Amino acid sequence: MNINLISDTVTQPSKGMLEAMMNAEVGDDVFKTDATVNALEARVAALFGMEAALFFPSGTMANQTAIKVHTQPGEQLICDKYAHVYNYEGGGISFNSGVSCKLIDGHRGMMNAGQVEAAINPPNFYHSPLTTLVCIENTTNKGGGACWDIEMLKKIKQVCTDHHLAYHLDGARLWNALVSKNETPEQYGELFDTISVCFSKGLGCPVGSVLLGSKAMMDKALRIRKILGGGMRQAGYLAAAALYALDHHIDRLAEDHQKAMEIGKALERLPFIKKVEPIETNIIIFEIDEDKLSEEGFLKRLAENGISIIGMGQGKLRMVTHMDYTDKMHEVFLKALTRL
Ligand SMILES: *Cc1c(COP(=O)(O)O)cnc(C)c1O
Repeated sequence: MNINLISDTVTQPSKGMLEAMMNAEVGDDVFKTDATVNALEARVAALFGMEAALFFPSGTMANQTAIKVHTQPGEQLICDKYAHVYNYEGGGISFNSGVSCKLIDGHRGMMNAGQVEAAINPPNFYHSPLTTLVCIENTTNKGGGACWDIEMLKKIKQVCTDHHLAYHLDGARLWNALVSKNETPEQYGELFDTISVCFSKGLGCPVGSVLLGSKAMMDKALRIRKILGGGMRQAGYLAAAALYALDHHIDRLAEDHQKAMEIGKALERLPFIKKVEPIETNIIIFEIDEDKLSEEGFLKRLAENGISIIGMGQGKLRMVTHMDYTDKMHEVFLKALTRL
């Protein structure tokens, strides 16, 4: 049995999802005539109570488009030092938008309103880049799947309003936060100018993200998506998978969270594990006590048991639970851990 906990992106479309894809009504989305893409965009916009939505091939392209919508070259955005937009999008913020980042030393990928306010460059001090955007990530990826306190997000929103800054949410795993905190999409829709959500992470789709915002912003985003080469033709086959996931794959995220917490508890009992970070959703980040067992040795022992995970550098290892990590696999994995 192969157990793959490298990421929640390793899932394969289920039978039901494939059927929904095969039966999709499609058109040419570059001409905006793909009925299934249009239906997905309308549905996600309504779900968040936002005006408009746009389908993207990746979360990276959705985030990068949002940043381009909100900024001009030479300006600066504020984000946490762990932010995906800064660390894992290939330097796209400078490449695509000519924008720099003011990094905040937050906690598990989350900053507070005071830190954000202090990071804003005075707008009349023309020597510094003009601050125009704040980017948030929920759940935080490098922060170990941590969920924000929505009250803090409201405080940061107030800072953005006071200083005329745009407010973007990288919600690649927002679905996990909604399930874990029992929150609604509308609560986020009313806070942010733009939100990106992924369908290819915990929701189990092969491809797809959606960017949400006002009609005017999404009109701009459509043009930027075109420039980035993100216009897709019979994309309805992919949008059908996302529609299927909205119906069938959201509530079940609680199972992934439960399994992650059980793995965390099992790890804590192992003598060579130094630290397991608090687990709120489907991501487990932990450290090995290298005096007792090397990281390499641990990964090798897991591999011998058919288990794949990855390191994040700096002594941190990560596991992510997902739809294709079954109850049976969970049982086998927990047993294997006690034998390591
Ligand atoms: C996965 C992810 C993205 C988008 O990644 P793609 O692989 O481009 O879809 C964006 N933000 C976060 C926090 C992510 O985990």
